[in-house]
Parts: sequence; C-alpha cells; structure tokens
Amino acid sequence: MTPTRRDFLRGSLVAAIAAPAVAEVAAGADPRELDRKIREAAETPVLILDGLERPVTIAAMELLRNRRNFVVRARTADGAEGIGVPNAMHLVHTYPIFLNRVAPFFVGKDARRLEPLLWELYRHDDNYKYQGLALWVCVAAAEMAILDLLGKLSGKFIGDLIGGVKRREVAVYRASGVRGNRPEEEVAYLKQLVAETGARALKFRLGGRMSKNADSLPGRTERLIPMVREAFGKEMTLYADSNSSYDVPKAIAIGRLMEEYDYAFYEEPCRFDHLEDTKAVADALRIPVAGGEQESSEDRFRWVIANRGLDVIQPDLHYYGGFIRSMRVARMAHAAGLLCTPHMSGSGLGYLDAAIFAACIPNPVQYTEFKGHSDIPVTSPTSSLRCESGIVRIPSGPGYGITIDPAFLREAVKVTTF
Ligand SMILES: [Mg+2]
Repeated sequence: MTPTRRDFLRGSLVAAIAAPAVAEVAAGADPRELDRKIREAAETPVLILDGLERPVTIAAMELLRNRRNFVVRARTADGAEGIGVPNAMHLVHTYPIFLNRVAPFFVGKDARRLEPLLWELYRHDDNYKYQGLALWVCVAAAEMAILDLLGKLSGKFIGDLIGGVKRREVAVYRASGVRGNRPEEEVAYLKQLVAETGARALKFRLGGRMSKNADSLPGRTERLIPMVREAFGKEMTLYADSNSSYDVPKAIAIGRLMEEYDYAFYEEPCRFDHLEDTKAVADALRIPVAGGEQESSEDRFRWVIANRGLDVIQPDLHYYGGFIRSMRVARMAHAAGLLCTPHMSGSGLGYLDAAIFAACIPNPVQYTEFKGHSDIPVTSPTSSLRCESGIVRIPSGPGYGITIDPAFLREAVKVTTF
C-alpha cells in the first residue's frame, strides 16, 4: 500500500459521500487494533427486532415456481406470511439444497432468531461442506422470505430491520453485460443504456472472462477504455470489470490505462479466488480495485478487508446468503475504511435488493448497479421501482414495501420434488 494509492482513494472515490472512518483508518491503524475493530463490526448484531415481543414460529417454508421465476413463502401457524424472491438463475440448479437442507431447518423455529439461526444452519448436518453459491443462494431465498415476514409482523420496512435506511434515493449505474462486440458497437450500446435511464455512471466489460489474458476480441479492451471516456466526457463516472481475466502484469497494464482515463474502479482484475494476485494488483495501482461477488466465506472477506486485498468490497446479496451476512461484510469494510457496493445478480428482484442494501450500509460507493426490470409483476405505492434520471427511490412500508401481483402468486406451482 502506497500513500499515493490511499490519497487517490480518499480523493476520488470517497469524496462524494460521508465516510469518516476512511481518513481515520487509512492514516495507518495498528494492525491488531484494526483486526479487533473488524471482528467487532462482524459480531455486532444486525437485526433490529423491536415490536416483536412474541415468538414468530415458522410453520411452513414453501418454494413456488411461476415459469422462470421462483418465490419462497414463509408462513406462521396463525396465517402470517412473508414472501421472498430468490435468484432464479441459480436456484433452478440448486433448489434441491433448498428443499432438502434449508427449508426444513427453519420449520418450527422462531423467526426472530434468524440471525443466530444462519450460523446454526451452516453447521447443521454438515451444510458447511456445501459452502459456496449453491448453499448460500438457497439460504438467501429463505432469509429474504423470513425478513419479509418479520417486517410485515412488526410494521417495519426490511431496511429498518437490518440497521436502518440511511438514504431514500440511490444513484445507480448501468452495466453492460456484453463482450465480444466491436468497441464502436459497445459504445453505441452504452449510449442506449444512458438514454434509457439517465444514469450518470456506467460499467462495461474488459478482457475475456476467466481467459488467462485473452481478450474477447483482439485489442478490444485497449481501444474501449479511451473510447468510452471520449464518448461520454469527464462528467461520467466509469467502472469496468474484467471478470477474472488477467495475470498480475497484464492486470496492472490495463489498470494503468484505466487510471490514465480516470476510471473510478476496476473490478476482478485477476482470478477471483487468487487473493495474492488481486492484492498485488491493488497494491500496485492507484485506481480502487473491486471484487467479492464470488466470495462465500466471512473469514476470507475478513482477511481481504484486514489486509487490504481489495479497495471496494462487493458481496452479492443472493450468492452470499442474504442481507444479514452481507451487512456484516459492509460493516467490516467500514471498520477498515473501505467502501462496499452490492454486486447485483440478475433475475428475480436482485435490482431492488441491491438498491435497498445500498440505502442501508454506512459506506456505499457513489453509484450502485441497477440492471432494470424483471419479469415479476411487482408494484410499490412508495416507489416506481425504476431508474429515473439516474436515481432509484427506495420503497417504504412493511416488509419489502412492494406488492407482487396476486395472480402471479396464484399461478405459481409448489415445488416439492427434484
Ligand atoms: Mg463482476
């Protein structure tokens, strides 16, 4: 870590938001004291359960499917219910873990114990051996339905259950999911995304995805980095994601080009699980390095945060097991003076989950990813749930503060076998 890199972080990424811990921690904290602060942040309970004086015993936890989408319904014996919308893209492959290992665990339990139950579930029946997206996407499915249930019973918005909504409006960036097109085509596509949403920040893809330095088209990345800056001007905030494309020398070379053109973060420069390589790149560059979307371990997140293996920490709310676990990551990052931004997994209501999370954490990056609309018919009396002039308004009201079309739920079929 060089002073230059810290100064850059402080100056460019943090300027737009209040993050008092950053200057304090970056000034050179005692490593043992930093470690203590990070552990304390992880251990501080997340859930705020005022107004729930009586047990909330879960009588049923059902998985329902409507075409490509799933919902999870958590019910109490006296008819209260919470609905969560899982990550359909992955649950379609992992749902036996939900049906056999996750849902039955919660039946008969007091939903108010959700936070300690997450650890108990992880230990139960050797579930920790399944650690990774396959387990945590199923745990997130259950957690989100239980949070909706607790919110509806207490009259609280989900954000107020996980620490409180700190901002009602979240500025968002649009991300292109395209690779392999020509740079001119990508710039045209990015212009279309900006025209649709009014976004003042963009992210696009570099490299070839887990490609050992190969580009998706020869020379695409080196042409695209300057071309996007020139197309959108200096006012546009630009992020870019290599999806684990590079070794250290190549990652640093690409990062230097991004620095030259004033990019605001560089996501997954090296293979996501190569923590040493990623840290070597982060140490060498001034541009903040982001990552964490594949991370499934709290202890590995803690190591990365304590050792500054990344500058921007990106848990995925679904891949990492839900709001509570992800909030612990955000708080650990905050304790170390680092920023956090949710990685947004597609499908379901991932865009809404990410916006709610960004509204609640103490240390968000200036813009949060927003992929737009899903095919789940959902409305809210307090939010359009859309990006308008680059902003998404966070709903309010009990649970998620949304209404899923009752017809959609009626037509959903209970999933019981695999
Ligand atoms: Mg990514």
